[in-house]
Amino acid sequence: MKLLQILLLFILSTVSIIAYGAKLPRAEDVIVPTIPAQGYEAPYLLLNCGDFRLRYEVEKFMVNRGLLNKYDDIALPGAAMGIDNPKMLEWQQTFIEALGALKKLHKLKNVIIIDHKDCGMYNLVYGRDITKDPKEELKIHRKHLLSAKKNIQKVHPDLKVELLIMDIQNSDHVVKVHTIDKLS
Ligand SMILES: [Zn+2]
Repeated sequence: MKLLQILLLFILSTVSIIAYGAKLPRAEDVIVPTIPAQGYEAPYLLLNCGDFRLRYEVEKFMVNRGLLNKYDDIALPGAAMGIDNPKMLEWQQTFIEALGALKKLHKLKNVIIIDHKDCGMYNLVYGRDITKDPKEELKIHRKHLLSAKKNIQKVHPDLKVELLIMDIQNSDHVVKVHTIDKLS
């Protein structure tokens, strides 16, 4: 009985390959993304949270900044928190090493870090819902964003680091953060 089942499965899978194999896209039909004329240079690296709710907004923000095809992207849960948590130094180490490699590969000169409000990773690390007090939430993000910037510039002092926080409640979605004063 078992042998029969195996034989049946083999026949079915062979038929499927024959039937659907022809419908697979050919290599020449695959759409290749446009590569800018200057070649493989990406002067920006974006560090953002991997939160699925933000994919479109983050991409839209980068495109609106004129950075389409000009940035590499690393997503870590918590963004700044991902490279500023003593309990997860491996994340920080991996990020710094990847950053070093991208700097060599793509002539990287700028890092943009986008944190966002209502970030589950922050709640996880703090062990409570930090969004209950919006002022405290911003204060916590500011602390980790500034600290993340220091962690990057300790190793790569030549890189500019821009700090942003995305508010998914607001219609414009992005609040720019230059200084501590502007994030209060
Ligand atoms: Zn998040």
